[in-house]
Amino acid sequence: MVVTRFAPSPTGYLHIGGLRTALFSYLWAKKNGGKFVLRIEDTDKARNSQEATQAILKAFEWLGLEADGEITYQSQRDEIYAKYIKQLLDEGKAYKCYMSKEELTELRETQMANKERTMYDGRYRDFDGTPPEGVEPVIRIKAPLSGEILVKDGVKGTISFQAEDILDDFVIARGDGAPTYNFVVAIDDYLMGINEVIRGDDHLSNTPKQIVVYEALGFDIPAFYHVPMIHNSKGKKLSKRDGATDVMAYKEMGYKPEALLNFLVRLGWSHGDQEIFSMDEMIELFNPKDINKSASIYNTEKLDWLNAHYIKNTPNAELVELLMPYDVVLTSHDKKEILLDALKERAKTLKELALLVNEIVITPTSYDEKAVKKAFKGDPISVLNAFGAKLTASEPHLPTEYHALMEEVVNEMEIGFGKIGMPLRVALLGKMGGPNIDVIMAVLGKEETMLRIANAITTHS
Ligand code: GLU
Repeated sequence: MVVTRFAPSPTGYLHIGGLRTALFSYLWAKKNGGKFVLRIEDTDKARNSQEATQAILKAFEWLGLEADGEITYQSQRDEIYAKYIKQLLDEGKAYKCYMSKEELTELRETQMANKERTMYDGRYRDFDGTPPEGVEPVIRIKAPLSGEILVKDGVKGTISFQAEDILDDFVIARGDGAPTYNFVVAIDDYLMGINEVIRGDDHLSNTPKQIVVYEALGFDIPAFYHVPMIHNSKGKKLSKRDGATDVMAYKEMGYKPEALLNFLVRLGWSHGDQEIFSMDEMIELFNPKDINKSASIYNTEKLDWLNAHYIKNTPNAELVELLMPYDVVLTSHDKKEILLDALKERAKTLKELALLVNEIVITPTSYDEKAVKKAFKGDPISVLNAFGAKLTASEPHLPTEYHALMEEVVNEMEIGFGKIGMPLRVALLGKMGGPNIDVIMAVLGKEETMLRIANAITTHS
């Protein structure tokens, strides 16, 4: 069974780059009827926080990505790690190193002065003397001194690391007994049954170290897929300056989760030239072998385009709910269907949709000067008066019925449609823009329409 995982360090919010690898892992597990598990890497007490963990879980909930089984917290697994440290010490695969900070600094400075690679020199690897007093030893693992370590990567191919170039006997437990990052990742991936690791290629350099741990403990090595980073349009690693990196900021900006996931799945993966993928299609079609070898480019226009697509295809009842956080309450509005049908084609985000709705339902308190100049040419007041009279004498409900009244005025006064459309628009909205004027009137209803027309006449005559 395929078991994948997402293993965030809770130092802040869920980053969209992290979400992308989480999505890839999720899709691959689901496609194979496997499991996608979540592990919170919260061992760094200075940098990790409960709030950050909660923020990550909240983002997953918003996106509808559910992890299988219990969530694993590394902070609760000290005993497990201690057991493996002891095992490696007992087997002579790890050892205590008593070098002091001063000695380490001295070693580094000498190596730098000699233009050598700075690394631990192995002086306690085979030590059997009396340890110095007053030093809490760190535990180092015996890494291979020569030969190569092969990382078989499903995206990048097989990468060979020369042991002597990249490895020293790295620390697996600090002086206070706290286990180190690469050590616990390898142990947890093994114990959690994870056999396919999909993660950012910023972790590629950790992988040979983790392989050393797997091998020392006799664990099976999982399949690796290291995903190239997301870049900005200038080819640099995506940063806050390029747009939001916090997943929940996308919610606040009015993106739908399905749009964000669709956007992310295409960053670094493709299926022909298909752009729109439902969750079911993503699960059916995704394969980590098709992940691109080069970095992908973040492109806001694409995200906006996708979001517009998903908003347009959202049932109105659901839109009513989604607009609530933007203080738009349409629950009991009798023309919400007409209103949303007209506007959902025009909005790139839910926030924008909320603005468009408010531009119609909130009575304007002022008129845009330029719009008035343009719309109120000729004799708009008598046109508005004529239309007002028609309204008083009838009971229109639908856009077509309002349209018919406009037509009557146009015909009777022998004017072009613009001569009524433009002043009406400015009278009703205070400015140009918006959907068809008959739709606006149907949404406002007869009373409100008459009131706004009367206001405009008073203000402009
Ligand atoms: N905790 C690591 C991070 O947040 C990920 C570890 C991994 O995927 O192996 O970058």
